[in-house]
Amino acid sequence: MGGYDEECDYLFKCVLIGDSGVGKSNLLSRIAKDEFHLDSKPTIGVEFAYRNIKIKDKLIKAQIWDTAGQERFRAITSSYYRGALGAMLVYDITRRTTFVNVRKWLHELRESENEDMLVIIVGNKSDLGQSREVEKEEGEVFAKTKGLCFMETSAMQNLNVEEAFLQMITNIHNIISQKTL
Ligand code: GDP
Repeated sequence: MGGYDEECDYLFKCVLIGDSGVGKSNLLSRIAKDEFHLDSKPTIGVEFAYRNIKIKDKLIKAQIWDTAGQERFRAITSSYYRGALGAMLVYDITRRTTFVNVRKWLHELRESENEDMLVIIVGNKSDLGQSREVEKEEGEVFAKTKGLCFMETSAMQNLNVEEAFLQMITNIHNIISQKTL
């Protein structure tokens, strides 16, 4: 749920999911600290980061969870999804299998407690156009058929990362505002 906390109007829990190596931890670094790491850093132990953002006159604290490498062992537990209002479901545009597996991740999300979570599909590594295996239109069409938002990003070049994050938070905020009207 969108809980309250002392310094902000809303606390939104969001999760990053998708296959290993698609760029989740680097997207999180961009969102939270505007950093990019060239090596796949071991994320074991790092579970979430915060990012504050103002929408209209409300201060929102986004608590964004990273899988911390657990997806490698298919060991994501229900506590990872618990209470999450939004999810960034990430694939790598240069690896088709990661796009094929988006369906699997969506299924897992829908099985979790909060089935009406706001989901944005993110095709990451858009800077690697020469190695592209998934066309942008394929991502767009897939997201549209599922009624979800879609964006291509590059964590490396910091392209569209802020936009994707903003879209997710704004949409969650809209849903919450409608519910509390
Ligand atoms: P995770 O396992 O999903 O958390 O993926 P990481 O964030 O650890 O990234 C996996 C690898 O992909 C690392 O070597 C990153 O440097 C690289 N990477 C992540 N995002 C991008 C991107 O947007 N463009 C390119 N070219 N490489 C990226």
